[in-house]
Amino acid sequence: VAIGAGDDDAAWLLGTEEGCVVTTDALVDGVHFVLDRCGPEAAAHKALGVNVSDLAAMAAEPLGFVVSVVLPERRAADLAPALLRGLVAAAEAYGCPLVGGDTNVGPGPLVLAVTAIGRPGPGGLLRRAGATPGERISVTGPLGGSVDRAFGGRHLKPPSRVRAALALRREGVARSGMDLSDGLARDLPRLCRASGVGARIEAELVPVHPDAHALGGDPLLHAIGDGEDFELLVTHAPLSQETRRRLEQEGVALIEIGEVRPAVEGVSWRRAGVICALPAVGYDHFLRGSPPC
Ligand SMILES: [Mg+2]
Repeated sequence: VAIGAGDDDAAWLLGTEEGCVVTTDALVDGVHFVLDRCGPEAAAHKALGVNVSDLAAMAAEPLGFVVSVVLPERRAADLAPALLRGLVAAAEAYGCPLVGGDTNVGPGPLVLAVTAIGRPGPGGLLRRAGATPGERISVTGPLGGSVDRAFGGRHLKPPSRVRAALALRREGVARSGMDLSDGLARDLPRLCRASGVGARIEAELVPVHPDAHALGGDPLLHAIGDGEDFELLVTHAPLSQETRRRLEQEGVALIEIGEVRPAVEGVSWRRAGVICALPAVGYDHFLRGSPPC
């Protein structure tokens, strides 16, 4: 095992030079989607999308996936074909073929457990460790409000950032990175811990998604705390115009939001001229939600 727990995937050396990476994510009705609202096809799409996001997080190319399904016994017969349709469509959309799986029936809610396999892209794997003070911190898209409109929001359709991640690695731009699944406020400290650094975010640079404004409350807290954006968070040296242009040609837009700082400074943000600790928002699987800020 070349890379064990602690990154977005594990990596094996299989007697070949490049090896492979594996990631797994289980989705539960009522926690990660609401089946009665979104339907089985959308649930299946998300189940693959979140796993492909973890492959992109390490700049790996998808090779295929397997899925273990636990169908609720009352609805097993009609759910099974719709889920299969959804998984096949998602496989096509994400360029990650379904290569096998396991079907079960149980008394509880629908569970979709996907395991996706990938291989390192041409620039090698991107890891959470690797950030150094002075680098810029960027994201690949607007954040916040993904779980809006009565659970019918963007979180059901994770964007594929595989191409972006491969380009960022191939161009030698990204030094460390991960995907944003639990919110910048929770995920950035993880990257900082892995790299042994601190960070400062400039609040006015954080790209706030229109969905975050639509939710009411403080849009910036939604942007850093809601999670399930599935955008990339990367650190990199300041970009030359030439590099920025090359990345744009490859369809990669990097939005700079802050700077890597020495570990002793911790993880902070500057908002309205005041520097303070990044608020403790973000998705917590044990609280099943965001802690109060
Ligand atoms: Mg991840």
